[in-house]
Amino acid sequence: MNVKALILSTVIFSVLTVSSITAVQAVSNDSVTVYSSRKEHLIKPLFEVFTKDTGIKVDYLTGKGGALIERLKLEGASTQADMFMTVDAGNLWYAGSQDLFQSVQTETIKSNIPSHLRDPNGLWTGLSIRARTIVYSTQRVNPSDLSTYADLATNKWKGRLCLRTSKKIYTKSLAASVIYNHGEDKAGDIVSGWVNNLAATPNAKDSHVMNAILAGQCDVGLVNTYYFGRLLSKNPNAPLKLFWANQDTTGVHVNVSGAGITKHASNVAGATKLLEWLSSAKAQAIYGSLNKEYPANQNIASDEVVSAWGSFKQDDMNLAQAGILQAKAVRLMQIKGYK
Ligand code: FE
Repeated sequence: MNVKALILSTVIFSVLTVSSITAVQAVSNDSVTVYSSRKEHLIKPLFEVFTKDTGIKVDYLTGKGGALIERLKLEGASTQADMFMTVDAGNLWYAGSQDLFQSVQTETIKSNIPSHLRDPNGLWTGLSIRARTIVYSTQRVNPSDLSTYADLATNKWKGRLCLRTSKKIYTKSLAASVIYNHGEDKAGDIVSGWVNNLAATPNAKDSHVMNAILAGQCDVGLVNTYYFGRLLSKNPNAPLKLFWANQDTTGVHVNVSGAGITKHASNVAGATKLLEWLSSAKAQAIYGSLNKEYPANQNIASDEVVSAWGSFKQDDMNLAQAGILQAKAVRLMQIKGYK
């Protein structure tokens, strides 16, 4: 075979390869498969509107985040999943570190979602914001005594603080942000101070933290605000209030629920369309309000109930740090006796 013939056959071969890929994509282009640790009632209403808008069907499977990550690892290239959705940047980062995502950075996503809520390498994108801040008893705490996460480590809160267990990813991400903002030494002092101030063994859930305050066991705690929203919807007169931490310093620690396109997605174009759509104004208005979270797209107003809690400055630490510093955060909490 002479050189010309070789080049020609290579070109024909690549054209054939490309067109056969296109043909496969054309078949699957009308559906996207999502693995989600977000519960069905939080995603189904969105997917229905997406399908109505675009004609692309969404098949989904829900389960625990950790189990879905293991499943994606096991399935490898044969996975049906085009997208993985979960909560907490620590979990999204972990999925990225296990090589389960591919980089997708479109102009639409970049303009809809602020950069600190996205992976710097485009592996995942935050789609809703959850704020983790101070909750306090309106009967026993003067809000003028409140200020920062670090202040909860000072003596005035001795025996008055309730916290969620350090085993939970939300706590790990918060501790990672404390390390990021203060450095390891100071973060160690803060975590130590929290442990010293605990009124009780750390709680299993955010709702338990608030129940403990209501029961008079402690006066202040840290929670994701949507749990506060859920409690108020059942008990509108609960003598509890949110306080926005660190407003004169780094801002409230925020985290995200979000999604990434899987490394072995068979419908990258459809999944990208879904991700872009989820970041759009229309989807964001639905997405935030379903779980009483904040829209990740900053051009959208929060749900009415959520807006009533007031606006706040958020910490703009890139949330990949919640993953990068997670091992350090876990070690530090262990050393300081935060159970
Ligand atoms: Fe939660």
